[in-house]
Amino acid sequence: MAKFSFQKAPLPSEVRPSDWQDWTWQLRNSLKTLEDFQKKFVLSQAERAGFSSGKEVFNIRTTPYCASLVGSHEHDPLRRIFMPREEELSAGSQQMLDPLAEKKNQVRPRLIHRYSDRVLFLVTDICSVYCRFCTRKHFTGADQALIKNSEYEQALDYIRSHPGLREVILSGGDPLTLSDSHLDRILFDLRKIDHVEIIRIGSRMPVVAPQRITEDLSKILRRHKPVFMMTHFNHPRELTFEAASAVENLVDHGVPVMNQMVLLNGVNNHAAVVQALSRRLLFLRAKPYYMFQCDPSLGTDHLRTSIANSSSIQRELWGHLSGLAMPNFAVDIPEGGGKTVLTPNFEISISGENEIHGERRSYRGWDGVEAEYISPREEKMITPLDAENYLAEWEELKSAKF
Ligand code: SF4
Repeated sequence: MAKFSFQKAPLPSEVRPSDWQDWTWQLRNSLKTLEDFQKKFVLSQAERAGFSSGKEVFNIRTTPYCASLVGSHEHDPLRRIFMPREEELSAGSQQMLDPLAEKKNQVRPRLIHRYSDRVLFLVTDICSVYCRFCTRKHFTGADQALIKNSEYEQALDYIRSHPGLREVILSGGDPLTLSDSHLDRILFDLRKIDHVEIIRIGSRMPVVAPQRITEDLSKILRRHKPVFMMTHFNHPRELTFEAASAVENLVDHGVPVMNQMVLLNGVNNHAAVVQALSRRLLFLRAKPYYMFQCDPSLGTDHLRTSIANSSSIQRELWGHLSGLAMPNFAVDIPEGGGKTVLTPNFEISISGENEIHGERRSYRGWDGVEAEYISPREEKMITPLDAENYLAEWEELKSAKF
């Protein structure tokens, strides 16, 4: 018997169940204009204004399924994720069109090589929902276009000619807005490259159109294993019966599911909400992987939490939530500095080595227990005898980018 109950999304009376279950119907019938949204919601003045001001910052779109999960209050947590607001145009504390400096690290059109062993491959710029917090507003939804053949071939050539590359992360836009046959071809082409070990797919579709995770899709992903699915659940209410079934379908087909959430002001910035999401995900066999600080992307100031707020949530969870359920709290350093995992500082003091002992380090644990850890002396450190067996591949990995 399931410990958690995952409720079905409410089916609008005018929609046939077979349409509702069809992900292409969800995309074709997505809400894009002020008129579309006014049919479903009583909009506040700030939201109405967002349809002119917000549209200047970023596209507007959501699926009927996603809209059905949202409450009537303008600050309903799920509503804040996709509803534009007039605050998007107000001057924020930090506003960047490309906070991760992806353009600087773009090595081919739609291919970003920031870390040594992996590349980000932006196979489409289309999404089924345009999340207001999106960090890739410089690209996402800009052209509403699939990758061109010439761009695709250039990206594959680059991956082929860099043997240190071990991972390819398909992103966008949302790769799962592509058809099964298109995805199958991309995965097939990548699998033909010997040195590509892992393929990841970053997608919001399991959250905003879980009907996309069909038996056929899961079989394709299994055929090209190992393919990891990086989902993007931000709130426990997004885990409906449909979404839970999508996650389970993937895992049952041997596709590991890892979740990356973003801490968002008024959406999920409370320890109770994060633990509720994390425990439910883990129960479904999806690993809560990252809890990101929201990037200072254009128009996101009202959605960003303070670092102090985020850190206090992490500290509160520490010790109460198992390591399996605990996501890593990370900040992406602006201007392409890369991800930095932040952890609570439990260290109180460090004192020096003597002739017998190494340095003495004092800690105060999450529940106040204080104790000293005496670290072995540095001169006792020896290198594993067989480390040299792995040096060549390590050097190749480190030099992949440079
Ligand atoms: S689905 Fe991802 S890429 Fe698309 S708008 Fe949302 S966060 Fe951005």
